[in-house]
Amino acid sequence: MTRDSAHLVIPSLLPVPSLDGARRILVIQPHYDDADIAAGGTLATLADSGAAIRYCTVLDDLVGVIDETLSDEDAAASLLRDQRAAAAIIGVNELTHLGFPDAGNWSRFDVRPHLFREIRDFRPDVIFTADPWLSVEAHRDHWEVGSVAAEAAILFGIPKLPSSSASVDAAWRTAPPFDLRAVVFFYTDEPNTLSPIDGTWDRKSAAVSEYRAQFSAEELPQLVTTLDAKAAQVARVGVGAGRLPAGTTRAEALKVIDPRTLHGAR
Ligand SMILES: [Zn+2]
Repeated sequence: MTRDSAHLVIPSLLPVPSLDGARRILVIQPHYDDADIAAGGTLATLADSGAAIRYCTVLDDLVGVIDETLSDEDAAASLLRDQRAAAAIIGVNELTHLGFPDAGNWSRFDVRPHLFREIRDFRPDVIFTADPWLSVEAHRDHWEVGSVAAEAAILFGIPKLPSSSASVDAAWRTAPPFDLRAVVFFYTDEPNTLSPIDGTWDRKSAAVSEYRAQFSAEELPQLVTTLDAKAAQVARVGVGAGRLPAGTTRAEALKVIDPRTLHGAR
């Protein structure tokens, strides 16, 4: 977002939550590979610290499969193989899939009850998703998934809004409440948190390199090179601004907010 000199930025009264100590992380992503590409280094660090991580992938990703001769069934199997291999590298414990049509005609009101189910069932203290307020993003899957995930993060506690599973709702109503204390937006151009990934870059690049159903043998190294350049740029800016320790060479840019800031100005 471009801000002119007359444009004042009034910060939220609520502090930026720390990701240290995250215990249960629910990642709501558009496509199979998004979180690994955008935040894989950070998620690997949090997995190493003991966080349980579930990836919920909203779209079926079939449009992105490069081998057009594959049946939808075989294409889905290839995508799943890739994602499982990447998950083992990053340290992701669970993978769920909602199967809505990639780049297709789906409604947020059909997706939202599934996200209520994911949140009520997994009981996350932290949710990761794509930033729906990225100033330039043409792919509707990205901003709409981020938007419905952000909305689910503020509405999941309302019993009058049922999830897609009556049994999950029944268990959730009688379980003790849990504290969703942070929502983390990746693919953001308004980062407030820079996460050093020097120690996990090798795993991030290895995980991204597993997505062979979606990228050719020529494209994958190019993608890794681009991500490397981006991580180096984020680190350079962060070190220059005193926001990262000197000597940091790779980092990811994230917008981490208290969920209470998702509705009305705080
Ligand atoms: Zn995507």
